[in-house]
Amino acid sequence: MLELILSPLGLGILGLLIGSFLNVVVHRLPAMYMRDWWRFDLAEFALADARSWRAAFGADDVPPRELAAASAAVKQRLDRLAPLSLVRPRSRCPSCGHAIKAVENIPVVSWLVLRGRCSACGTRISARYPLVEAATGALFFACAWQFGAGAYSVVSCAAVALLLVMALIDLDTTLLPDSLTIPLVVLGLVAAAAQWTPVRWGDAAAGALVGYGVLWAFGAFWQLALRKANAMAEGDMKMLAGIGALLGWQAVPGALFLAALVGAVIGVGLIALGRHKRDVPIPFGPYLALGGLAAILWPQAVRGFGESLAPLVGL
Ligand SMILES: [Zn+2]
Repeated sequence: MLELILSPLGLGILGLLIGSFLNVVVHRLPAMYMRDWWRFDLAEFALADARSWRAAFGADDVPPRELAAASAAVKQRLDRLAPLSLVRPRSRCPSCGHAIKAVENIPVVSWLVLRGRCSACGTRISARYPLVEAATGALFFACAWQFGAGAYSVVSCAAVALLLVMALIDLDTTLLPDSLTIPLVVLGLVAAAAQWTPVRWGDAAAGALVGYGVLWAFGAFWQLALRKANAMAEGDMKMLAGIGALLGWQAVPGALFLAALVGAVIGVGLIALGRHKRDVPIPFGPYLALGGLAAILWPQAVRGFGESLAPLVGL
């Protein structure tokens, strides 16, 4: 049975189903994250407003009443929201609220049968949903095909799922939540320590440090030398740390080079086509995910690039 599940066909079908769940995660996680962010902010605000107000405006000044009223109003609205988690409530059509039945939720097939429309109100359903499902299925299939029915196939499929979700959430919201990046780092380190991957533990640990460090250094350089706003978000650093932890430090330069190259080509293309304003930051997560996926599927080529660079820095 386990052999069957871990076969290319088995993992491919599992990938389609997980792809369907990834769509839900991409849709809901940012909303959950931002609700937490508002709650946290309100709590901070309630604690600090009077004291920090006095520090800023003088000992006998008091915060205007509008501040307290606004934060009470926000808190009230937050408390009124129906609870939201990755499993609850069931998926609904965003335009008419029609609860999606199990038969309408078959990966790729349902979208094709319904011709990309809600069965109740006929509103278009984005083609991105079946594409994400198909991509997850194809990537899981490729991992099982390449790595066989063993622990490394499972580890790579988990990493593929995390990278896909990160790419799409970053693309939609320019957020890379810790709840996605940190698990990739942990997955890489644990898998190496347990010898579920061909990557040695030391290389995985070095990969996490190099992945984080290289983007941190780039951001610091950008900020100090060129006096520009920091171009690198911490989420990108943690994401590359995860790729390094999973595939070893040798994979970091190749994955990053590929990400930067594709990102630059697409970025320049979008600016040339007038589809993107020059000063708006371009999310880097989707390109890092591409670099990470390439490093998972073609480890020799991507690691070879890093190893060929190692003598240049005296390693
Ligand atoms: Zn509908």
